[in-house]
Amino acid sequence: MSEHATSTDVLVIGGGMAGLAGALALRANGADVTLVERAPEFGEVGAGLQMAPNASRVLKRWGLLEKALEIGVQPKHLVFRDAVTGEELTRQSLGGEFEERYGAPYVVIHRSDLHRVLLEACQEAGVRLVNDVFVESVETVDGRGVAHTAAGVDYDADVVIGADGLKSTLRRLVANDEPVGSAYVAYRGTVPITESTPRTDLEDVIVYLGPDCHLVQYPLRKGKLLNTVAVFKSASFERGEEQYGGVDELEAAYKDCVPAVQDALKNLATGIRWPMYDRDPIENWIAGRMVLMGDAAHPMLQYLAQGACQALEDAAVLQDASNGTVFTDDGVDPAAWDEAIRRFNELRAGRTARVQRTARIWGESWHVSGLARTLRNLLFKSRGDGNFQYNDWLYGQEGEGIPAAGRTESAAKVPA
Ligand SMILES: Cc1cc2nc3c(=O)[nH]c(=O)nc-3n(C[C@H](O)[C@H](O)[C@H](O)COP(=O)(O)OP(=O)(O)OC[C@H]3O[C@@H](n4cnc5c(N)ncnc54)[C@H](O)[C@@H]3O)c2cc1C
Repeated sequence: MSEHATSTDVLVIGGGMAGLAGALALRANGADVTLVERAPEFGEVGAGLQMAPNASRVLKRWGLLEKALEIGVQPKHLVFRDAVTGEELTRQSLGGEFEERYGAPYVVIHRSDLHRVLLEACQEAGVRLVNDVFVESVETVDGRGVAHTAAGVDYDADVVIGADGLKSTLRRLVANDEPVGSAYVAYRGTVPITESTPRTDLEDVIVYLGPDCHLVQYPLRKGKLLNTVAVFKSASFERGEEQYGGVDELEAAYKDCVPAVQDALKNLATGIRWPMYDRDPIENWIAGRMVLMGDAAHPMLQYLAQGACQALEDAAVLQDASNGTVFTDDGVDPAAWDEAIRRFNELRAGRTARVQRTARIWGESWHVSGLARTLRNLLFKSRGDGNFQYNDWLYGQEGEGIPAAGRTESAAKVPA
């Protein structure tokens, strides 16, 4: 256990979904956990988040699914439409057989709500949460990770989890790479659902696929809010203009789309846009006693709606890899961290690389035009509801790197 305030069993850097999930998972194993976050307050900006069953299974094993469902929505279907004609291309029913097959529901939730659920769970479990700490570097000294902060205070721990997101500072310890821009940008927005909101598809996740653009809509907060995300190829972003390209550019991108899509643009908050980046997969996430997770390890384009889902999977697999090795009936064995993080990295790198690569290809198929669009639509229409062949690898309960559905018995107890 810690001897002074900056010494801990586990130090987590970054208080996004990945960091909070990692902190919670290791605390549940019995670790003394400190999480540091550079922002003055914990929180999330943005709108909705889709939680597929591979992630809601993790929430379930941590006893948090009920809380998520209290404020989220279980959509009835995932529906793809052609944005130019409005024609339905394919649909997946998300209840019944789907939920049974994957062992948990498909949930859509406001990201600030999910973040709060994880934050409160960390607080209740006794994770030490510290704001206003910017970590500049981590080194391993005598078998302990030492994090050097901008304020000049060092934190040391048996293991350091680098969960510092897409623009990770810690990733530089393992890779000499940069985020890859996709030329696409997103605008997001939530508006109240009222009597005048068009009734169509209000209980579904609906994705309109258009040339160089798409639009996603789904309900949030028990059906009180409508979430809209518009993603399109932005000439101004390609020219290097990081910020807002103007409503003109947004409207021009959707000019060939059906009125339902054009009308939905009014729901967007146009003051801020999110450029879409990912990185190429890397095999090694470990430097000494520092290991990456979440977007720091495997940032991906959002087309499969899996970035946060994969972060939750990371946390559960790290929980299992360190349970019974680092955390045993006899107490904590810090020396076992080397093997635990190696095993975690080995199990997770292949799976997340596949998700990263598939997200790129999946996104490309959404944005095609001409003959490619005709062929895409034919392929989508040939797929019947209840055909799980494209979902099993991602949402399925078995496979390398997929966390066990049930919680493994913790070897150590969380101190009261
Ligand atoms: C438009 C869009 C839609 C998306 N939709 C979905 C979806 O439907 N489903 C899904 O699963 N995923 C989705 N994602 C992806 C998801 O949002 C991310 O994968 C996820 O939020 C990443 O979490 P993270 O904790 O790894 O990183 P972040 O959320 O970036 O958190 C990193 C944290 O680390 C802190 N930090 C950074 N550097 C330091 C430092 N040096 N010292 C201390 N603290 C530091 C930051 O302040 C931040 O709080 C979407 C993404 C986008 C852009």
